[in-house]
Amino acid sequence: MRTLVTGGAGFLGSHLCERLLNDGHEVICLDNFFSGKRANVRHLIGNRNFEIIRHDIVEPILLEVDRIFHLACPASPVHYQYNPVKTIKTSVMGSINMLGLAKRVHARILLTSTSEVYGDPEQHPQTESYWGHVNPIGVRSCYDEGKRVAECLMMDYHRQNNVDVKIVRIFNTYGPRMAINDGRVVSNFCVAALKGEKLPIYGDGRQTRSFAFVSDIIDAIVRMMNSENGFTGPVNIGNPDEFTILDLAKLAMEFAGGASGIEFHPARPDDPIRRRPDISLARRVLGWEPRTSLREGLAITMDHFRRELELAGG
Ligand code: NAD
Ligand code: UDP
Repeated sequence: MRTLVTGGAGFLGSHLCERLLNDGHEVICLDNFFSGKRANVRHLIGNRNFEIIRHDIVEPILLEVDRIFHLACPASPVHYQYNPVKTIKTSVMGSINMLGLAKRVHARILLTSTSEVYGDPEQHPQTESYWGHVNPIGVRSCYDEGKRVAECLMMDYHRQNNVDVKIVRIFNTYGPRMAINDGRVVSNFCVAALKGEKLPIYGDGRQTRSFAFVSDIIDAIVRMMNSENGFTGPVNIGNPDEFTILDLAKLAMEFAGGASGIEFHPARPDDPIRRRPDISLARRVLGWEPRTSLREGLAITMDHFRRELELAGG
C-alpha cells in the first residue's frame, strides 16, 4: 500500500508516518515545513519505505498513491493566524488539489478536520449532528471556516465523483513532538512550568478543553481510514475528559515539580468557552475510545519538553 501523508512533518503527521511504516506501508511525507520540521521525521529517513517531498499543497502535484491522509494545515492559533489568507488557501485550494489527486488515482482520502467546526458551541458535549456556532468573520475563521469548506469539498467530491472519503473531527491533542514554540496551551504551560516562568492564562481560566494523547488519536485516524462499508464520517475523535484551563495549569506545575505561578491575560477573541466530544459514534463504528488519561499523557509530554529544553540549552 502506497500512502501519502500531507503535513507529514508536523506533530500528528510525524507520528502517523511512523505508525504507517510500522504497519508495512510505503509512506510519502509531503510538507512545506511551515509549522512542521524535518527533525520530526529525521529518524525515519533511511527507511527504504519512506520518502519526503517538500511541496506546498496549494499547488497541484502528480503522484501515484493508494491512500491519502490529508493533514496539511497549521493547527495552532498562533500559526494559523500568522498568515490567515494562506491558512484558508491551504484548506480550500490544498483540499481541492488533494481531492483531485484522489479522484484521478482512485485513492481513498481522509481529512483531519477539527472540533473548531463547532466554533463556540451551544450544544454540550458536541455530537457530529451539531452544525456549530462559528463566527464567519472572526480571527479564528480562517481555520474554522477553512475546515468547514474542506469538509464540504470532501462530501461534494464523494457525491459528485464517487471519491472514497473519510472525515475525522479531532479535538485538542497533545504529546511528544509538539514544538516548544507551538503556541498551544499544553506546550505553553509545560515549557513555562519547566522554565520556572509564570503560566499565561487567557481569560479567567474557567474555559474548558478535552485533551487527547497523540497515540490514541493516531490509532483512531488509522481505524477510520481502514473502516469499510462506505462510512464517510464525520466522526469525533478526542478524549471526553473535560478540564478547565486552570486545572491544566495546576497539573503542569505539579508535573514540572515547581510552583511558578499563573499570569492572567485578556481572553482571546472568539475563544470557545466549553469543548468536549461526544464519542459515541467512534465507539460504535470504530470500536475506539481513548486509553490515556491526562495525568499519564502529561507526564510523558513533560519529559519530552524537558529533553527539548535541554537540547535548546534553556
Ligand atoms: P502541525 O502544525 O504540527 O502540522 C501541520 C503540518 O502541515 C506541518 O508540518 C506544516 O508544515 C504542514 N503544512 C501547513 N501548510 C502546508 C501547506 N500549504 N503545504 C504543505 N504542508 C503544509 O499541526 P498538527 O497538530 O500536527 O495538526 C495536523 C492536522 O490535524 C491539521 O490538519 C489540523 O487541523 C488537525 N487537527 C489537529 C488538532 C490538534 O490538536 N493537534 C486538533 C484538530 C485538528
Ligand atoms: N490558552 C491559555 N494560555 C496559553 C495558550 C492557550 O490560557 O498559553 C487557552 C486558550 O485561550 C484556550 C485554551 O487555552 O482557551 C486552548 O488554547 P489552544 O491554543 O491550545 O487551542 P484552541 O482549542 O483554542 O484552538
